[in-house]
Amino acid sequence: MRQIQMVDTRTQYHHIKAEVDQAVLDVMESSAFINGKPVQEFAGNLSAYLGAKFTIPCANGTDALQIAMMALDLQPGDEVITPSFTYIATTEVIALLKLKPVFVEVDPKTFCIDPAAIEKAITTRTRAIVPVHLYGHAAPMEAIMAIAKKHNLYVIEDNAQAIGCDYTFADGSKKKTGTIGDIGCTSFYPSKNLGAFGDGGAIFTNDEALSVKLRMIANHGQQKRYYHEMVGCNSRLDTIQAAILDIKLKHLDEYIAARRSAADFYNKAFGGHPKITIPYRAAYSHHVFHQYTLILEGVDRDALSQYLATQQIPSMIYYPVPGHKQKMFEQFGSGSQVLPVTDWLTERVISLPIHTELDGEQLAFITQQVLAFINK
Ligand SMILES: *Cc1c(COP(=O)(O)O)cnc(C)c1O
Repeated sequence: MRQIQMVDTRTQYHHIKAEVDQAVLDVMESSAFINGKPVQEFAGNLSAYLGAKFTIPCANGTDALQIAMMALDLQPGDEVITPSFTYIATTEVIALLKLKPVFVEVDPKTFCIDPAAIEKAITTRTRAIVPVHLYGHAAPMEAIMAIAKKHNLYVIEDNAQAIGCDYTFADGSKKKTGTIGDIGCTSFYPSKNLGAFGDGGAIFTNDEALSVKLRMIANHGQQKRYYHEMVGCNSRLDTIQAAILDIKLKHLDEYIAARRSAADFYNKAFGGHPKITIPYRAAYSHHVFHQYTLILEGVDRDALSQYLATQQIPSMIYYPVPGHKQKMFEQFGSGSQVLPVTDWLTERVISLPIHTELDGEQLAFITQQVLAFINK
């Protein structure tokens, strides 16, 4: 049996090696390492795939979030509502820009921000909501957009874990996550569903004026070289990464299907077990399974994880400390905040290996070992 990994980027590379190697060599030969042709080609193809009017490539997903927030002219002290149960990048950039992160609860079924909790957290200083499509399941965007409209708030989607995910509205129409709010952000970190061979990110919007501003901010606040109209930053997607991503984009739907089929295998093995809750799927959301995350009840999670490690099966806790309990945010007094659903999930979740290259033998071994420990 091939060694089991949380993400197997090497085997995935081997399937497209000839094409990727040639694309990288072509960039080297052109020597247009920065803003070479593949960057705009990839951005165009990604826009078409997502149905976004504008795609602005940048250096990573954290920058994408930062640039998005910089483009909205938020003032120091303005409040941004965000889940506590997410990766640190979502909330860190809020504090970095001297804004105030306001942590709210998630729905224990979908792991995504709870619209009722958003409503309760709104004050006169609230300016934006940052929902996260966690683990590849969409946040309830229709409800979030309605709240945003009612209270005149911006919505920035953190789509780092859900690229390619379809959202179905009540009227049956569909959109890709990341294209529903005012701005969408994603990451091409190697382990993400559309992963580069290094860092990368992108920002999406359907608003032309906003797209111009986002592009300027990512490029030192300039449109015309050396004429800097606003404070920006330097955030670019390398040409080599864009060339690789353009090839992988053609396989994204296939990659998503492979993740979903691995999740189906797990679901069949774990579904109905009294101590295991398998990932829920809301009717409005497709699930692209960036992570396959179980909720365990009455199981010593750390002991399970250690046991799996002895069997060469990796597992992860995403995330062991929620935002409101991070020392980084003590300045906001969030440590005293009580978020029981978030705390409850934090103590019970465990993520199993999921990627495009898991085979039947590996999946059977993982499920067998997990159940052997839990049923012991
Ligand atoms: C990966 C990730 C990011 C940040 O992306 P980087 O490219 O690593 O900067 C932001 N938010 C979420 C939810 C992520 O999973």
